[in-house]
Amino acid sequence: MSSKRKVAILGATGAVGQRFIQLLQGHPWFCVEVLAASERSAGKKYKDACNWTMESNLPPEIGEMTVTDTNVEAVEKAGNVDLVFSALPGDLAGPVETEFAKAYPVFSKASAHRMDKDVPLIIPEVNPDHLALIPVQRKLRDWKGFISTDPNCSTIQLVISLKPLMGFGLSQVVVSTMQALSGAGYPGVPSLDIIDNVIPYISKEEEKLEAEALKLLGSFNGKEVRNASFKLSASCNRVNVKDGHLESVFVKLDSNPSVEEVEEAFRRFQGEPQRLKLPSAPEHPIVVKKEQNRPQPRYDRDEGKGMSIVVGRIRKDPIMTVKYMCLGHNTIRGAAGAGLLSAELAVAKGLA
Ligand code: NAP
Repeated sequence: MSSKRKVAILGATGAVGQRFIQLLQGHPWFCVEVLAASERSAGKKYKDACNWTMESNLPPEIGEMTVTDTNVEAVEKAGNVDLVFSALPGDLAGPVETEFAKAYPVFSKASAHRMDKDVPLIIPEVNPDHLALIPVQRKLRDWKGFISTDPNCSTIQLVISLKPLMGFGLSQVVVSTMQALSGAGYPGVPSLDIIDNVIPYISKEEEKLEAEALKLLGSFNGKEVRNASFKLSASCNRVNVKDGHLESVFVKLDSNPSVEEVEEAFRRFQGEPQRLKLPSAPEHPIVVKKEQNRPQPRYDRDEGKGMSIVVGRIRKDPIMTVKYMCLGHNTIRGAAGAGLLSAELAVAKGLA
């Protein structure tokens, strides 16, 4: 990479925006050029606009940057940008990302465009070939830039774990999630609603999981993605954990592999980011824990710097074929880290 690409982060003050800033520190290919947020934050120094909740200190030079409004004109006035990361709320992201994509590559964490037919929904280890939708989209919309999206956080970790099971013939999946508080953004769920409690509902989460997984594991025929044909049922819960979604997964397969064969398929799983040695790629996309009481969010969410997913308690199921627990760091593998890895893959393929 000759010189670093300059990036704008939209939604820079939020839970995902902060994680982008943290992960971009010292990144070999990208550097932060512009920070944008709502009109509440625009015009303020970043350190005054945001309540920094990352584990590492706010980098002083980032704290001194002035936050801009979230529109193309304001961002262009603030700096020379090569690509855009969007961590905007889903209901706002649609038209804003469209405006930016006319001129810039936009890598989005928001749900607005995920299911658009000409927009890639990417997990770099799972469906890197779907990035070929970018030239299709550019031609159709006559854009210089494009929109590429990452899935919902709870979808990413589930689908990474399902991909190696495709070889056994995936027929049905049932998943029950226990999702961390940071998944609801900042400040998120009121403390009095979640202390001493579990909330058995997350708005639109089950629908996203059920739809996105089929697109991700679908096949691309050069023009469009044909959804995968297995059935998926999701039940989503918010729990009193800061970071790290834990999922209880039940899978019906066409064949009947042993627990050891399933474990081996998880362990051996590698994707294009590992082959290309992309900067944010974890060495092991899936880490298998053998202890009976793992994975646990507090102890296991930082595996592979938060980019590995962790599975455990793999066992036979009397109704389905196998069941296991699956953990992922929702703001790293499920959000900012996913966005970075997708952008790295697009750059490596000469698309951005
Ligand atoms: P968040 O903490 O609520 O942050 C929202 C960001 O958007 C803030 O920077 C906020 O700026 C900005 N914003 C709000 N209203 C705006 C407006 N009218 N104009 C411009 N900017 C505005 O949310 P988050 O958790 O970071 O989530 C961001 C996106 O990522 C969402 O689409 C979410 O669904 C998705 N996502 C989140 C996670 C996760 O684990 N949190 C995982 C996957 C995907 P101000 O500070 O100025 O209000």
